[in-house]
Amino acid sequence: MQFRVLGCSGGLGTGGHTTTFALGRRVLIDAGTGVGRLSLDDMQALEHVFLTHAHLDHIAGLAFLADTRFAHGATGLRVHARASVLGALRAHIFNWQIWPDFASLGCEHKATIETRRVHMGRPVVIDDAVLTPLPARHTVPACGYAVECAGGTLVYSGDTTACGPFWRALNKLERLDHLIIEVAYSDEQERLGKVARHYTPAVLGQELRKLRHRPVIHITHHKPGRGALIEAQCAEALAGWDFRHLRLDDVIDL
Ligand SMILES: [Zn+2]
Ligand SMILES: [Zn+2]
Repeated sequence: MQFRVLGCSGGLGTGGHTTTFALGRRVLIDAGTGVGRLSLDDMQALEHVFLTHAHLDHIAGLAFLADTRFAHGATGLRVHARASVLGALRAHIFNWQIWPDFASLGCEHKATIETRRVHMGRPVVIDDAVLTPLPARHTVPACGYAVECAGGTLVYSGDTTACGPFWRALNKLERLDHLIIEVAYSDEQERLGKVARHYTPAVLGQELRKLRHRPVIHITHHKPGRGALIEAQCAEALAGWDFRHLRLDDVIDL
């Protein structure tokens, strides 16, 4: 199974797209502005979207994805997220004021969007992949996901800062081949990182000491214009780890 990066930026302005990952052709994990890089055919082939949280950089593309699919008669896109995330989307986005409620629109008695609650630690099986929500600590209800496939296990942290339960959940995994984890801010912005609940390189370096696995670490979600500085600071803070910075169109085979 291929895990493909359609967007991995923490914002816009430097040519990047915000967080959107594709798992094969049928599954998206987060639906930021990277959704716009999918073709019409790709959009209609999708069956599942797993969301980490309701912040705009992770859901903006879902609104347009639903609209395009509705226009082409594609129904039954299952949106998986925590109950509070689904509630926030219903109340603040798909509320007929910001955007139509695509859970009540569709054709032939099937809605464009169907919602599915996820529960922390409870796996969801999609064909050959098992996706399990993991704890995260952000300013709003959030989660990460473990993605277990025949070819390996990948964890995506979503947006989070230091979070003991996240590392404990990772240590319980049988194997961990790839860890995609956010570092939104540089070390000078540690105070902002604490308030906005994002990692900085130094804080991540400290937290990684809790991890018993030795995965390849992929750093994601740099805020625009901070990439070079974050990369330089990670080189120091993550010394000894096999790490790289996630790039648009990266593919990880699982
Ligand atoms: Zn966020
Ligand atoms: Zn974000």
